[in-house]
Amino acid sequence: MTFRRFVATLSEVERASSRLVMVRMLADAFRELPPAEVPLAVLLLQGRVAPEFEGVEFGVAEKEAAKALALALGRDEAEVVRAVKEKGDIGAYAREVLPEHDGGLTVQQVYDELRAIAEDSGRGSQQRKRERLARLIAASSPEEAAVILRIVTGRLRLGAGDATVLEALALAFLGDRNKKPLLERAYNLTSDLAYVARLTLKGEDALRAVKLEVGKPVRMMLAERLPDPERIMDKLGPHFAEHKYDGERIQVHFDGRRFWVYSRRLENITHQYPDLLEALREVQQDSFIIEAEAVVVDPVTGEMRPFQNVLNRKVKHLTRELVEKYPVKGFVFEILYHAGEALIDRPYTERRQVLERWFRPHERLALAAKRYVEKASELRQFFDESIEAGCEGLVCKKPDGEYEAGKRGFKWVKYKRGIAGKLSDTLDLVVVGAWLGRGRRAGGYGSLLAAVYNPDEDRFETLTKVGSGFSDEDLNEVLPRRLEPYRRRERHPRAWSLLEPDVWFEPVQVIEVEAQEITLSPNHTCAFGVVQEGRGLALRFPRFVRYRDDKSPEEATTTSEVVEMYRNQWAQGST
Ligand code: ATP
Repeated sequence: MTFRRFVATLSEVERASSRLVMVRMLADAFRELPPAEVPLAVLLLQGRVAPEFEGVEFGVAEKEAAKALALALGRDEAEVVRAVKEKGDIGAYAREVLPEHDGGLTVQQVYDELRAIAEDSGRGSQQRKRERLARLIAASSPEEAAVILRIVTGRLRLGAGDATVLEALALAFLGDRNKKPLLERAYNLTSDLAYVARLTLKGEDALRAVKLEVGKPVRMMLAERLPDPERIMDKLGPHFAEHKYDGERIQVHFDGRRFWVYSRRLENITHQYPDLLEALREVQQDSFIIEAEAVVVDPVTGEMRPFQNVLNRKVKHLTRELVEKYPVKGFVFEILYHAGEALIDRPYTERRQVLERWFRPHERLALAAKRYVEKASELRQFFDESIEAGCEGLVCKKPDGEYEAGKRGFKWVKYKRGIAGKLSDTLDLVVVGAWLGRGRRAGGYGSLLAAVYNPDEDRFETLTKVGSGFSDEDLNEVLPRRLEPYRRRERHPRAWSLLEPDVWFEPVQVIEVEAQEITLSPNHTCAFGVVQEGRGLALRFPRFVRYRDDKSPEEATTTSEVVEMYRNQWAQGST
């Protein structure tokens, strides 16, 4: 397939009227491609040349890309850089100025060039990247160049999420989109869409045989929430509760020689925790995959510090000083793989036994505190102790529950502190639009339109308009700066909204929001028609808490969680 045809499909998909139509269009496009190009197309759809966890980035800023465009056009650099800046979108500008041309580029050729650009590093690489990109642009049509430039500057995001791509692959190569769960399982174990595409081409047996691998992040298991110990006991029966530490969740892989550390979003953050890895190397020789919460502790007293402290380690070049100023301790709560054996299908109790046998004490490492509870009163008691110890509450774990990669279910239930008059938990919402500010907020934003994620439909459903909790600086400077790259004139195809904000955004930025209660609303689309006909769910008195850059939009609170919270909200007040 030519790259040109692929690009045409992309723009059709962006305009698709429904998700099902999107799935069909993508499936048709996949079928048209030579098999070897399917995984490459899947990567390009995500604007990448390798899965995110491999950390292969283009390292091409918009200004650099504009210089390459100038070179391809034979125009003055400064003039093109200025024009791109004014236009605000390098792709749209390229489409306007480039002459019509058909270089007959294939998906493979474009991929190879882009990969070469991404992999070039070291001395003189900037110049080489620019020249290579200029040659590629010169060989492209205006539409192709627009997509290429958006990819290298990290601005291509397709309307379809991972779930839609998986469904399209199932339809294209297994003949049935309902076979998506098979692909989903492979994806949850490897976090690699291109690899799943390759397996799907081989057939169902190849998908069934997929195993987790040390070095490839496993999509993380998540917890459901319930408001009080009585409901948790009803749901789980006697079970193990563990302290819920409030730091950064990490997945650590070790193959006997090399370490990898992955974040909740499955980014490679190995460089962030040199001290933890040193500790692990001292006490462990066998290969493993574990999960832990990395919490900053006071260097003198050893007491746990609040979550925000760990963010100080999120810098490109972590210095010794920073490591010493913000020492972390890893509270280990999971083992997914040990000495050649995958453990994720084993019940919690067995995994925890392996973990306890595996564990060697160290100043920088501890096992998550756990207790077997048979009654609500015991759960409440352990909860109070966890708060006393500086934790956020408990994660309650079903004894026979396996590790469900990439799923949020009731095998883990979180129990957090409820503040009187508030919902017992905050929500993580995706910003899909905004209203402009007036008066003191003129020039910035007045409020944001925030949405939950509906994984069944792979779309974002609005839940609230949130304007309080932000500082003036947030509304006038921080938010405009953060949201500018995602601004668009029309509603994004994955956002479902009955309201018309002043500006729309690609669903990318996640924010944490607290609220007083959940109410029925004719204006919001979250669970529209589920609880009552003609009504969705909305938040009452929403308030911004913080940015959640550690979460991808698909990791936001889901529609079904909000329905659950709506039904449970009157039963709270346990703490
Ligand atoms: P929250 O925003 O409440 O931290 P979340 O959406 O990040 O939740 P959940 O799966 O809902 O994630 O809640 C479980 C989270 O709690 C895990 O992602 C992990 O970071 C953290 N955690 C702390 N201690 C434990 C533990 N003992 N077992 C499992 N998770 C734990």
